[in-house]
Amino acid sequence: METEEKSLKKAVLWEPDKDKKVRCKLCSHRCVIDERKVGRCNVRKNIDGVLYSLTYDKVCSANPDPIEKKPLFHFQPGTRSFSIATMGCNFQCDFCQNWQISQAAIENGQIDGEPITPEQIVEAAVRNGCKSIAYTYTEPTVFMELCNDCGRLAKEKGLKNIFVSNGYQTIEAIDFAKDWLDGINVDLKAFSEDYYKRLCKARLQPVLDTISYIANQTNIWLEITTLLVPGENDSDDELKKIAEFIVTKANPDVPWHISRFYPQYKYLDSVPTPLESLERAYDIGRAAGLHYVYLGNVPGAKSENTFCYKCGRTLIERMGYKILANHIKKSCCPDCNTKIAGFEL
Ligand code: SF4
Repeated sequence: METEEKSLKKAVLWEPDKDKKVRCKLCSHRCVIDERKVGRCNVRKNIDGVLYSLTYDKVCSANPDPIEKKPLFHFQPGTRSFSIATMGCNFQCDFCQNWQISQAAIENGQIDGEPITPEQIVEAAVRNGCKSIAYTYTEPTVFMELCNDCGRLAKEKGLKNIFVSNGYQTIEAIDFAKDWLDGINVDLKAFSEDYYKRLCKARLQPVLDTISYIANQTNIWLEITTLLVPGENDSDDELKKIAEFIVTKANPDVPWHISRFYPQYKYLDSVPTPLESLERAYDIGRAAGLHYVYLGNVPGAKSENTFCYKCGRTLIERMGYKILANHIKKSCCPDCNTKIAGFEL
């Protein structure tokens, strides 16, 4: 046990509880973990009354990606983001698109990866011409220790840091990260507790709280993604609730990405999202007052482009993850001078 402890990274955001238990405060599961046990994510372990990360030195993915792939459409468009992950997640979504790396730790304790240091990650990002580091593919909250060390170093080197997240981190975790976290794409998967409970083994309300907090109490740039699963979260009523929530509790300037679903993992008895549903969701988002709505996983669709919400001028032309043209001038529409929200547009 002693040897294991020596090689592990002490976790952040936890407190001791009685009988050598610990209480993790990183995500809204707020696990109370017995000695020698792990939390629900299976990647944080209590050893002798101290919580450790089991993934700090186990990076399982590291690639330079277009930032549009995250997706972030209003944050340094056309740049590359060095994207890293470790195995594990605090959700168990039946339709997970990255289940091979997100669910293996939960299913069978498998945690594979390379000991890549924060210094090496930042160096690789710079070498690959990236403007940011993205903590993505799996849930970054559960590898916060690596994000924190890497994020602080990246900041010193002039790089930005972004999360692609399910939004289940606690307010304490957002506060912990907000000095170095510059942008985040949060999944708002549905607008019903039943959906979150049944399909993700989690709850909706903490995600709503996190989104509101990020939008109103921090300077972190926020975009939201909803994967449209046929028959589960694609009714007019539910889509309207999501769009109205973003408008009223976040901001009409927050881009909403509506993503096409393809059957995955345990959720195979379904069809891909019909294009009509995606277009209906797009119209509902715009009618609710959202300034920027995008369709994802539909390469070539007109709704991949950014339009001026005032005059309708095409501002950024996209083809999949590629930027074909960016007509924004000093963060404004070149025709009507309306300010376009975002970062380094
Ligand atoms: S990160 Fe979440 S799931 Fe993992 S131990 Fe902490 S509270 Fe539990």
